[in-house]
Amino acid sequence: MTDQLHKYLFENKTVRAETVDLQETWLHVQRSHPYPPAVSRLLGELVAASVLLSANLKYDGTLLLQLQGDGDVLLIVVGCRSDLRLRATVKLREGAQLAPDAGFQELLNPGGKGRFSVILDPAHRKPGQAPYQGVVPLQGDSVAAALEHYMETSEQLHTRLWLQASSDRAVGLLLQRLPQTGGAAPRQETDETWNRAVRLANTLTPNELLTVSTDTLIHRLYWEETLIAFDPKPVRFHCPCTRDRVGHMLRTLGRSEVDDIIAEQGQVEVKCDYCGETYVFDAVDCAELFATDTPPSAGHQSPSTH
Ligand SMILES: [Zn+2]
Repeated sequence: MTDQLHKYLFENKTVRAETVDLQETWLHVQRSHPYPPAVSRLLGELVAASVLLSANLKYDGTLLLQLQGDGDVLLIVVGCRSDLRLRATVKLREGAQLAPDAGFQELLNPGGKGRFSVILDPAHRKPGQAPYQGVVPLQGDSVAAALEHYMETSEQLHTRLWLQASSDRAVGLLLQRLPQTGGAAPRQETDETWNRAVRLANTLTPNELLTVSTDTLIHRLYWEETLIAFDPKPVRFHCPCTRDRVGHMLRTLGRSEVDDIIAEQGQVEVKCDYCGETYVFDAVDCAELFATDTPPSAGHQSPSTH
């Protein structure tokens, strides 16, 4: 079964392992983002990573992973909810000429100003409560390396990731050394389990990750270990944009701005950056938007901004 997140715990409870294998969800993401292979690969890897990291969210909310670049790729963002529904988008510099084999740093960080940020946005934020945001420079030469650097510096969690994406699969393996708590295994045993788990995972080739099922991979790597397996969780694409939300966004924009667009283009067309859905409001629709007295309610986000 694909499009599932699998979680495992090493028997001595010192190391956590997770795998994700996305096909349908990944195809859905790409449908509205037909980007060149080099960009698609980064997007797929970030999508797989977002699921692996969302798996441990302790509350109802969204985890946003953002790669902000200063090269041809300006932004790659993936939002994954704690129920593992996700969406993603990419912004390229206008006129970008991307070499098919362009690397991570070349695409995102040629000027050294690239940033990787992680935003945790609880679903039920209190008024005035800002989402948590952590930002680090873009280090390493892959999505996995940039994420590992973030986890190490911001979360103080030893985390290793193996990510791969092709046109039809986005796959990931995560290993995380769990913080030592009372009653946990002694330090030396933890070190040994962690080092062994990482060493074995490092033997994986990119091709193996992309062609073998994640169940088989885990078995191949850790057949000598006892792993506690948890119930797998389904992952799927979901974009919460609606005509209603776009209407709210237009009202927030203001009547004169919207009237200007109508005068210029005859209608207002808003395309969702995440799912590609287009919402069209003609002059009558727009007049209706502003006819009601109730002001636009807070908390509604424009689908075309992040
Ligand atoms: Zn949408």
